[in-house]
Order: sequence, then C-alpha cells, then structure tokens
Amino acid sequence: MITLDRPCLENIIMPTQLIWFRQDLRIQDHSALWHATQQGQPCIAVVILSPEQWQIHHDASCKINFYLRQLKILQQHLLEKNIPLIVAQVNLWKNVANYMLQLTEQLGVTHVYANAEYAVHEKQRDDAVLKVLSQQGKKFQLFQDHTLFPAKSIRTQSNQPYKVFTPFKKVCFERLQYSIPKCYPDIETQQRITLQNDIRQVSIDDMLTQYPVSEYMLQQWPVGESIAHEKLYEFTQHQVKQYKNQRDLPAIHGTSRISAYLNIGIISARQCLQALFQPYHGEFVLSDKGIETWLSEILWREFYQHIMVDYPKVSKSKPFKDETARLAWRDAPHDFEKWAQGQTGIPIVDAGMRELKNTGWMHNRVRMICAMFLTKNLLIDWREGERWFMQHLIDGELAANNGGWQWSASTGTDSAPYFRIFNPVTQSERFDPEGTYIKQWVPELASLSAKQVHAPFEHKIGHIEYPKPIVDLKSSRVRAIDAFKNL
Ligand SMILES: Cc1cc2nc3c(=O)[nH]c(=O)nc-3n(C[C@H](O)[C@H](O)[C@H](O)COP(=O)(O)OP(=O)(O)OC[C@H]3O[C@@H](n4cnc5c(N)ncnc54)[C@H](O)[C@@H]3O)c2cc1C
Repeated sequence: MITLDRPCLENIIMPTQLIWFRQDLRIQDHSALWHATQQGQPCIAVVILSPEQWQIHHDASCKINFYLRQLKILQQHLLEKNIPLIVAQVNLWKNVANYMLQLTEQLGVTHVYANAEYAVHEKQRDDAVLKVLSQQGKKFQLFQDHTLFPAKSIRTQSNQPYKVFTPFKKVCFERLQYSIPKCYPDIETQQRITLQNDIRQVSIDDMLTQYPVSEYMLQQWPVGESIAHEKLYEFTQHQVKQYKNQRDLPAIHGTSRISAYLNIGIISARQCLQALFQPYHGEFVLSDKGIETWLSEILWREFYQHIMVDYPKVSKSKPFKDETARLAWRDAPHDFEKWAQGQTGIPIVDAGMRELKNTGWMHNRVRMICAMFLTKNLLIDWREGERWFMQHLIDGELAANNGGWQWSASTGTDSAPYFRIFNPVTQSERFDPEGTYIKQWVPELASLSAKQVHAPFEHKIGHIEYPKPIVDLKSSRVRAIDAFKNL
C-alpha cells in the first residue's frame, strides 16, 4: 500500500492503480498510462527486468543496455509527474504472475494497466497474470498500443487475416484516409505519493554494468523521448522526400534509424504518422513518393505484428509455409561462423555482418542480402541467422526479424519466390556502386577500384588480406533451387 504525502494530515491509504511498463518506455502517447491516470486515483508504476528470459529470447547486450538507459530516463520523467516507478527483477516470466500478485497485495492495488504484447511467451505471461489477479478480484486491463490498428481488425472480405502485404496495406491506406490515429494527450502531474520502503527493488545502474557497450555505441544510440523525437522530426521534415531514392543505398544515411526507438516504445507508431503528416496539418496526403514509401515501411512493421497475432506459429520458430519445414538445410557450423564474423569473401555480405557487430544495426538492403546469402547460397537454416541477428541487433524485435528472415528464406508470408535469389555481387554493384559502404567496414579492400571491390576474386589484383569466397555463387544458387524444388 502507498501513502499520500500530505504533511498536515494523517497518511491516507487509498487503493491504487498500477501501470506496468514493458516495451513501451515513454510517458507521451502511452495508452495504458493515459487510461490509468484518468481514474482520479493515485498511480504507481512497475517494470520487471528478466535477465534469464532475455537470454532465452536471445536479446542483444546492446539492446538491453539501450533499454536500461531509457528506463533511467523514464523513471525520472515519471517522478516529475509524481509517479514512482518500481524496478523489480523476476528472472523468468513463468514467475511473473506470482510476483504481480504479491506486489498488488503489498501495495493495495486493485487495477493493473498495461499495453498488450503479441508474441507467444508474452501472451502466456499475461494470461497467467490475468488469472491470478482476477481470482483475487483485481483487474488487469490491456490496451492496444503497439500497432496503429488493433490486432485482428484488418480482415479480408471473408473475414480472414491477410497473408500478403499489398492488399493489407491497401486496407490500411483506406483507414488512414478516413482518419490517422491520434496521439493521447499528455498526462497531468498527480498528487505526491511516497512508496513504502519495504518494496524490493533493483538498481538500474548495477544492472547496466552487466551489459556494457562501447563508447561508440553509446554515441550512436542516445536515449530519451526528446532525442527520439528530434530524430523523427529531422527525418520526416527534411529527409523523407529523398527516402524513395536513397533508402536502398547503405553508404548514405537515407533511412530514419528509428527502429530501436520504436521497438522499446520510446516513440509510438502513432507519433510517427503524426510527424509524417504534420506538414499537411494531420491530413492523409500522399503527395510525395518518399512519404508514401516510408509509410509503407511503417506498415510492413504493422503487417508482421498482425501476422504474429494471427499465426502464433511464427513466434514458435515454425515456418509460415508448412511445406518448407521439410527443407534439408545444411549443417555447416564452419560456414555459419565465417558468415557471422564477416569472413565469407563476399564483400557486401562481410561489410553488413561487420556493421552489425560494431554498431548493433545493419542497413535493411544489406540485411536482405546477408539473410539471403545465408539461407540460399549457404543453405543454412534461417533460424540460425534469425538468432544471430537477435543476439546482435539493437533493434532486434521478434515479428520484424522473423518476417525479414522468413521473407529472405522463402519460407514466410509474402516471401521472395525461392527461385529469385539475390546475387550479392550484382546487389553490391547496384546499391553500393563506388564501394563506399564496403570500404568502410572491410578496410582490407580500401585500395581496390569501384570495379574490383564488389568481387575481388574475379579480378587480377595483388595480394590482399581478404578471404576467397567460401562458396561458389552460381552452383550454390542451383543447389538452393533444387532443395526447394524437391519439397
Ligand atoms: C533479415 C531481416 C531482419 C530484420 N530484423 C529486424 C528487427 O529485428 N527489428 C526491426 O525493427 N526490423 C527488422 N528488419 C526490418 C528493417 O531492416 C529495419 O526495420 C530497418 O532497417 C530499420 O531501419 P530504419 O529505422 O532506418 O528504417 P526505415 O527505413 O526508416 O523504416 C521506418 C520503420 O519502418 C519499419 N520497417 C522498415 N522496414 C521494415 C521491414 N522490412 N519489416 C518490418 N518493419 C520495417 C521499422 O520500424 C523502421 O524503423 C529486418 C529486416 C530483414 C531483412
């Protein structure tokens, strides 16, 4: 239970509202927070840190560090609104329901608010919490916040979920034309409350020491809602018009780089759309190809979230296309290691894999090239690549990562047809014509010309400390097509 901090009166005990923060570390435009604070009763907040669960989910150290740094800022912002944030540690989600029961009993909380999460483990955790709390007559209310449109609300005429992106996007466009989702108003500052001091808490700073990152990474990925909004504003007001032409060029800073902020909820998808259409006073105006293309990308994110709700198998490591479960992937740990370390001898692939290791991020075009190289040329199971990406991405997120991997492996919804295999050299020549991106991440190739740099193995050049390709691109392509044909 908590006490109202009023010096002249006796401490007054009141039933309280508890807001449970998860992948939504912000105070602006936050559904659960806004609803909780509208009830006229004091609110407190909790976040549960689960290191063993993060490990099971292969969350990258840099992503956890990013999360914890943002959590510190959130705690401060909540305090400015007089909402204390309890930072708890429950290592595994299977124990969260018990913890929530104890905590709500201890605080005298009758109503818990949170934003819904869609992956299988998250849903199991929330179902268990709902069960124990309702047995005690307490409410656990979930809000749709993570997506623009509620899960299961975008349906075909025969009321089925969409399996293909383009018609899904068409419906989204129609809805957006009608109305762009509005952001929630800012919350008011509540009366000051003091937490009783026997609540067990962990120190964010102590936990941060377990997830160290380089100074470079800290500079690349600053935290805070205002910083995320600056990035969003800079992109939507100044760069989005060039997005269509520049988005595929990894040497150029031509995309928004907001995925990490979106994924842990430092900003919301609603805020992205409001920023995008701000110059048009919030009207859905697609006057520009850049705006339309960026909006489509935001809707890819939406699509994969909806797919995860409708087809839970994708968050259980199952392929979307059932028949591809029979595919005879190669067991080739040596090749996998070369790929992971950026030592395949294919420059664009190595550049991407090294960018990932050094920055926690990789350009989207290069993600596709690297994923296709692993799953087609090396014929290695997409789940191995999916795991490696999660272990290293600062923006690692189950739905988008799984969607991207299954697209590349031709096992997923709306995925690349199995016979359309990217040639990494052609891709490299097309999207990094001068080799600028390659040379940034593979400095061994810095002295090569723009003609040589994409495939040094095809040119007569002097000795360089760079490996020969670990696989022949032509014959491995045929091998992959045969493997799919035989399904
Ligand atoms: C193999 C593979 C793995 C991927 N893993 C992830 C992941 O773990 N987490 C993640 O957020 N994205 C993932 N993506 C999608 C995409 O690469 C990133 O969202 C994008 O590169 C982030 O950079 P940005 O913020 O500058 O994007 P922008 O180009 O500025 O796009 C804006 C936003 O749209 C969304 N978006 C863009 N492209 C996609 C896409 N193809 N699928 C889903 N959402 C998209 C993201 O939220 C992104 O921040 C993956 C793609 C592939 C091919």
